[in-house]
Amino acid sequence: METELLSVVAGSHGREAIARAASLLRAGRLVAFPTETVYGLGALALDPAAVAGIFAAKGRPSFNPLIVHVASIEAAKALVREWDDRAQAFAEAFWPGPLTLVLEKAPSVPDAITAGLGAVAIRIPAHPVALALLEEVGAPVAAPSANLYTTISPTTAAHVLKSLGGRIDAILDGGATPIGIESTVLDLTGSVPVLLRPGAVGAEELSRSFGPLGHPSAMPEESSARVSPGQARKHYAPAGRVRSFSSPESLGGLLAGLGPGARAGVIARSARPEWASVAAWLQLPDDPAGFARQLYGALHALEDAGATDFFLEEVPASAAWDGVRDRLSRAAG
Ligand code: AMP
Ligand code: MG
Repeated sequence: METELLSVVAGSHGREAIARAASLLRAGRLVAFPTETVYGLGALALDPAAVAGIFAAKGRPSFNPLIVHVASIEAAKALVREWDDRAQAFAEAFWPGPLTLVLEKAPSVPDAITAGLGAVAIRIPAHPVALALLEEVGAPVAAPSANLYTTISPTTAAHVLKSLGGRIDAILDGGATPIGIESTVLDLTGSVPVLLRPGAVGAEELSRSFGPLGHPSAMPEESSARVSPGQARKHYAPAGRVRSFSSPESLGGLLAGLGPGARAGVIARSARPEWASVAAWLQLPDDPAGFARQLYGALHALEDAGATDFFLEEVPASAAWDGVRDRLSRAAG
């Protein structure tokens, strides 16, 4: 299949591009689009055949549930069994935004979306293109990251094309995504909110307004809270061998052990020291938001530069870095 490229950034055809993307989605087709986190691969959430297309295009196993994107709280309510005060409070505080809420699902939500679980994950994205698209579609859109399963998530249309070109109907290009890592996932099915996946909204920010959060592994057996499926360790990995390092000394040791023909690619918060001879050294900002914004782009760039060995500098242990640290550790397997 030929993948149509629809650009919102180039020229004045933004509205037309969004209208075309919306009509493809309404027809049950697959369209990648920008959100504030990463590019999503969209399909009609309430159409099981369209949803099956997402799993096929990504090579994603069916036990891995999808996040449903909507344009309003009203639309979210229609997907759940009960929209309680707590859901309303989180939604008012963080939507539109990078917080996904997991709630008991309404019967209308297909099993394919939830991987057979009784709960559905929902959010309102904060990206203007995503919101305009969702409004134009007029129906909930399921959208996991727009990349092949276990490969690096896309933060530009070019990344999507590299991974899914020829496998999906269209890519709506809205430029680079501003946040750069996936949403925070919060389970609201139990008595205490449980953080299932760290992300752009920090645990501190959540607990500041809403009290302490539960931890998945600390939840009692009978609780409906569960470890988030699809949080496979190897989930955001580049093609190559990935290792982390904590200091220039430890990096030096790792580089010294490389065989002939190895091409080292480094991602760090400091500049390359004179002694480090590597194929590529990418310096990322020394703040969590700046680092997150550039992380996947840097991994893609090292991959494109033919790196065989990836070295990722560890980030600070503080909570502000939780989302980034989670993605780095998954990349390192
Ligand atoms: P993504 O591939 O970024 O769309 O991530 C989707 C992730 O959201 C899944 O891998 C799960 O970790 C989480 N998720 C989605 N739906 C559910 C659900 N019904 N229950 C728990 N976690 C979910
Ligand atoms: Mg993903």
